[in-house]
Amino acid sequence: MTIHRKEAGYRPIGERIHDFSEVEQTLNTRDRQEQASRCMDCGVPFCHWACPLGNKCPEWNDALYRGDWERAYRILSSTNPFPEFTGRICPALCEKSCVLYLTDHEPTTNREDEAAISERAWQEGFVAPQPPLHRNGRRVAVVGAGPAGLAAAHQLNRMGYSVTVVERNEAAGGLLRYGIPNFKLQKQLIDRRIRLMEQEGIEFRYGVDVNLERLDNLDNLDSLEGQEPRPFDAYVVATGTPQARDLQVPGRELRGVHLALELLSQQNRVLAGQQFAKEERVTARGCKVLVIGGGDTGSDCVGTAHRQGCKSVVQIEIMPQPPVGDNPATPWPQWPVVLKTTSSHEEGCERRWLLNTRRFLGKDGRLTGVEVEEVEWLPNPEGGRPVMRGTGRVEVIEADMVLLALGFLKPQHPALPDNVFLAGDAASGASLVVRAIASGLQAAHRVDNYVRLHRQG
Ligand SMILES: Cc1cc2nc3c(=O)[nH]c(=O)nc-3n(C[C@H](O)[C@H](O)[C@H](O)COP(=O)(O)OP(=O)(O)OC[C@H]3O[C@@H](n4cnc5c(N)ncnc54)[C@H](O)[C@@H]3O)c2cc1C
Ligand code: SF4
Repeated sequence: MTIHRKEAGYRPIGERIHDFSEVEQTLNTRDRQEQASRCMDCGVPFCHWACPLGNKCPEWNDALYRGDWERAYRILSSTNPFPEFTGRICPALCEKSCVLYLTDHEPTTNREDEAAISERAWQEGFVAPQPPLHRNGRRVAVVGAGPAGLAAAHQLNRMGYSVTVVERNEAAGGLLRYGIPNFKLQKQLIDRRIRLMEQEGIEFRYGVDVNLERLDNLDNLDSLEGQEPRPFDAYVVATGTPQARDLQVPGRELRGVHLALELLSQQNRVLAGQQFAKEERVTARGCKVLVIGGGDTGSDCVGTAHRQGCKSVVQIEIMPQPPVGDNPATPWPQWPVVLKTTSSHEEGCERRWLLNTRRFLGKDGRLTGVEVEEVEWLPNPEGGRPVMRGTGRVEVIEADMVLLALGFLKPQHPALPDNVFLAGDAASGASLVVRAIASGLQAAHRVDNYVRLHRQG
């Protein structure tokens, strides 16, 4: 292999931390095509196996290398309805299973290639509304307009169903819009996609908090086109994981302790032009911030805190630091559980591991610090998950803001009637955008099978 992997990289730190624009840059066309040429068109493409959507990376990389952007987009969009999202924020499971990752840790740049193909497609007009040629007379309600609900709606609409998406927020996107920071994904990309879906005939209703135990209440929704209310034939529930995991230790009630999404979703709303009263505003401006939770949501808090003008950020994690480079416990082509350093970490952050939070400390109702204890993980004599033990080494980390980024609880759903289908995080627990999209597409096919089986008249 004579051509090395070349990533577009990020904007300089000194520039990017003063705005919320996307941190990632783009390669010029020549370099992009050269990167696509690195794909070896393997006989057994593991990238295709690792991508939950089964994206045909070798095929679109070949078209891209040859400069046939339209064909590249046709192949890409045949498996992925929203490549403009995954091209920016997918962790690229495919790249970690690329044969070039195994041989020299320089996999193909599939994710960036995907973003480039999709942006060129929007610019050149290859992405155009494709309403179905025939409607089949069946109605489906999709509850939740995150990536899973949007994928289900897209697929069902293309199959000829009349689809209404019902969302409790004021706009579509789910965590794409109200979780993932703008510096990873600009929200105009979601608006652009929703406009196209509307042009294809999908109805969106916002500000409707659906009672999942009484989905038939939705049957009273009138159609925006003025038609009489008519029962839905099936429902897709793609409501995500609305409940964040909390940390109920002494001092949780202190001012300054927040769930991560309180900060992240409000910041995205502020950037969308919404205003909040001073006492409602959650901002890290001038704060010493402690992020509890070493995952991606925590990393998004780090980047957001920098842009809001924090004094410092520390991120702690209860588990040990993952290995750097390779991890024999997760060999190729599995996803490697190794230390991940994000663009937000590069912007400045002290990262610490093996720390358990014992209590929040405060003065006059306001947070001043967090008492943590170093822990160790011992093998479990009964097998299974290792057992945590405190070492007795206790310290106080000074902080006037804590952000809890501890994941989300898997929702428990009541027994659902046969014509209700779960999709995305609501079905699997918190996961990834690419998995949510794949799950939404599968739910659409399950709906179609159900309706065909129960078709009357
Ligand atoms: C901060 C953060 C950063 C992330 N970063 C990434 C990343 O970089 N890459 C990645 O792949 N994944 C990332 N994820 C995970 C990813 O966002 C989710 O896995 C994905 O959005 C799940 O899609 P979904 O459609 O199942 O649910 P969601 O995106 O959660 O959407 C669910 C929708 O349902 C609506 N809803 C809920 N209940 C009701 C109701 N009763 N009535 C009406 N509407 C309702 C909600 O308002 C929401 O719009 C991140 C998650 C977080 C929290
Ligand atoms: S969606 Fe993600 S895993 Fe699939 S091809 Fe794109 S970057 Fe790779």
